Amino acid sequence: MDGVARRLVERDRAVVWHPYAAVGPGARGPLYPVASASGVRLTLTDGRELVDGMSSWWAAIHGYRHPVLDAAAHAQIDTMSHVMFGGLTHEPAVALCETLMAITPEPLRRVFLCDSGSVAVEVAIKMALQYQTGRGRPERGRLLTIRRGYHGDTSGAMAVCDPDTGMHHLFTGLLSRHLFAPAPARAFADPFEDADAEPFAALLAAHAHEVAAVILEPVLQGTGAMRGYAPGWLARVRELCDEHGVLLVADEIATGFGRTGELFGCDHAGISPDIMCVGKALTGGYLTMAATLCTEEVAEGVCSPPAGAFMHGPTFMANPLAAAVANANLGLLLSSPWRETVRRLEAELAAGLAPAADLPGVADVRTLGAVGVIETREPVDMAVIQPLLVDLGVWIRPFGRLVYAMPPFVTSTADVATLTSAMVEAVARTTG
Ligand SMILES: *Cc1c(COP(=O)(O)O)cnc(C)c1O
Repeated sequence: MDGVARRLVERDRAVVWHPYAAVGPGARGPLYPVASASGVRLTLTDGRELVDGMSSWWAAIHGYRHPVLDAAAHAQIDTMSHVMFGGLTHEPAVALCETLMAITPEPLRRVFLCDSGSVAVEVAIKMALQYQTGRGRPERGRLLTIRRGYHGDTSGAMAVCDPDTGMHHLFTGLLSRHLFAPAPARAFADPFEDADAEPFAALLAAHAHEVAAVILEPVLQGTGAMRGYAPGWLARVRELCDEHGVLLVADEIATGFGRTGELFGCDHAGISPDIMCVGKALTGGYLTMAATLCTEEVAEGVCSPPAGAFMHGPTFMANPLAAAVANANLGLLLSSPWRETVRRLEAELAAGLAPAADLPGVADVRTLGAVGVIETREPVDMAVIQPLLVDLGVWIRPFGRLVYAMPPFVTSTADVATLTSAMVEAVARTTG
């Protein structure tokens, strides 16, 4: 690292907090100053270029500094960056909601724009509870979910994250007590039988009288597991929710916008949720924005007495700058051959990561859509594997026992090969 980079890291270490990180003497692992990013490459201040395998956490699907997205941001900033959304509206927000309506399953009819994924989940939970109250069932105040889920870091969302690997033990006084069924046992490509969903069905049947909604990540559990599950299982959950008058909330924040090979995870099962959350790739990784969509039936329940309106309204709701970039981003996505692209990435990730399956320190290698995962037997040592990956010319950010890539859709065959060979080599040299 050169002098400029070292000084920036020192200044950072003095005052800045990073995600899921300690500060002070407990701060661990390296920190890399980025000077710029373009296409699928991050350029560090010392001039090194890294092939990005993370899409900035599922978001930058078209890569960095895309000319169309840059132009949309410039045009909007010259018009207005932000105005409040109470009592005012604007073209970027209306157009975005219309597009979301058009591309999501038909029964979803209303869009609430939020500032981040976690907030979209909070909004979904509040909608579900207000709906049940509005329909005269205020006793239905709990949520039911599956283990190994991840739904965000705010308190409502944290309460439905996996109770063991999530943060429940740290915040017991704050978090509502919800119901947790086992994670689906069958992998994505495995055949599904109704009996597989029996533990879920039994838990729901026993508690339906007090459950407002089931919330889960459709077909791919992201941050909590990086694991796909059988679409038939999701279809069965939809049936069971209908049987018991319980809403289904699909958290598509990671799975949305093509990442799993369909536009939305629910599309694999041919189902429609009552409430859907999208985020992450919504603005192509440019700005923070998310959305919560619901059916007309849910909207009517929410707007019934006693509340009469939906009780939420962030300061930066429907930020025009984010909405304008989101419109450009969805335009790019929908006019691209995204399905073929994701299929190609899936095949290339699978082929490139396959050699890892023979390594003694590796428990599993799997791919679903443009997500490739090496699961190790022991947690990786970030202080060792992170610099090794950077030396190999890639930006891959493992956590726990998961070394995974979800590259931008614009990644070339050669760059996918760089990512996968670096992942296999880094795992080979640091495990087993
Ligand atoms: C990332 C994520 C969230 C939280 O989104 P933020 O924008 O980080 O608040 C919620 N649900 C899922 C499935 C996610 O992957």
